[in-house]
Amino acid sequence: MSTFLAAERVRGFGTSIFTEMSALAVEHRAVNLGQGFPDFAGPAWIKQAATEAIAADLNQYAPATGLPRLRAAIAATWARNSWRDIDPSSEVTVTSGATEALFGAIMAFVNPSDEVICFEPFYDAYLPDIIMAGGVPRVIRLYPPMPADNERRAATAQWRFDPDELAAAFTPRTRIFLLNTPHNPTGKVFTRTELEQIAALCQQHNVIAVTDEVYDQLVYDGAVHIPLATLPGMWERTLTINSTGKTFSLTGWKIGYVVAAPHLSQALRQAHQWITFATATPLQQAAAVALELAPENGYYAELRAAYLERRDRLDQVLHRAGFTTLPVEGSYFIMADISNTGFASDADFCRWLTRDVGVAAIPPSSFYANQRDVPLLARFCFAKKLETIQAAAERLAGIDRNRLG
Ligand code: PMP
Ligand code: GLN
Repeated sequence: MSTFLAAERVRGFGTSIFTEMSALAVEHRAVNLGQGFPDFAGPAWIKQAATEAIAADLNQYAPATGLPRLRAAIAATWARNSWRDIDPSSEVTVTSGATEALFGAIMAFVNPSDEVICFEPFYDAYLPDIIMAGGVPRVIRLYPPMPADNERRAATAQWRFDPDELAAAFTPRTRIFLLNTPHNPTGKVFTRTELEQIAALCQQHNVIAVTDEVYDQLVYDGAVHIPLATLPGMWERTLTINSTGKTFSLTGWKIGYVVAAPHLSQALRQAHQWITFATATPLQQAAAVALELAPENGYYAELRAAYLERRDRLDQVLHRAGFTTLPVEGSYFIMADISNTGFASDADFCRWLTRDVGVAAIPPSSFYANQRDVPLLARFCFAKKLETIQAAAERLAGIDRNRLG
């Protein structure tokens, strides 16, 4: 039998760290605080809307750009937040999750050898997306706050970038600046000042911004999510990506969307029509119901309060187990310092923790292109029931620190 080599563009891709760690968690019956997905049910009223949509025979292809009702609900969300008045017909496109939106945006604008700038650590799909488009990633570092002692861990101590490194990353070949805020895996929410620095460079170098804002509802302790597209001069050059998966705890539905000015949306739609064409009709209908009713039924406030409790609980559990954690302003991840565990790599630590302790976490080195001086951290997800966090607590409490390393 012949064997066929994969095309060069995918040959170097390993298996996603989420797939690897979730499989290891299943094999070792570990409590899975690795892959980011809720282990609790999505809201019954949204699931009911999906069931009703299927029963009402909303089961054929949706329009390629998305159900008009969902696009209108997305535009209403932007208006309600006083971000911008959006035209749902020309400025909103529904995609199969943020994953397709990211791929589509990059395929729509990146020519071979164009450069795309992003921060590392980055969400793991970014690099393969850039490579599949024939683009060249230009990665700059986000530096962690020093976690050496809790006293110094001021509430303001956050991951930061070096403005000079940021400016130096822009070249005549830069096509896209790819930003993620609130940020996975660091939990950072970019400040207005930081966004202004990014916006100024994008404008100076005539670069398109693609912003991944899937955790926009998950912000804590007074942190405010600011869409880059709302800064002066940015609307014309920004594609804003979001996903109802995180906001409504329904990650398997894969209903994402892109909000962008008509000339940007048009190019994105050119790519989207040949990637998936359209996405699941009844689930789009239910996502529309979710966005319509959530502001009225208190859903967002409840969501944030529940996540705040889970964040604080997991933070406490990690501290009791002897880890120092980095502050989390947004997303549903906590980074724990593992530099005192004796492990030489975060991957070895996470495999050990999964197999021997029975708690799965993600090694953030998977989110770095450059492996030099990667901080030794482990990412724990708190999109989990309090019982799950408690189960992890019991296992982590049993860590024999003398056996570490
Ligand atoms: N971007 C980020 C930062 C994410 O964390 C995720 C998924 N966890 C995605 C994009 C993908 O979103 P979706 O599941 O809607 O494709
Ligand atoms: N975004 C999720 C995470 O960061 C995982 C999504 C996936 O498995 N592709 O854990």
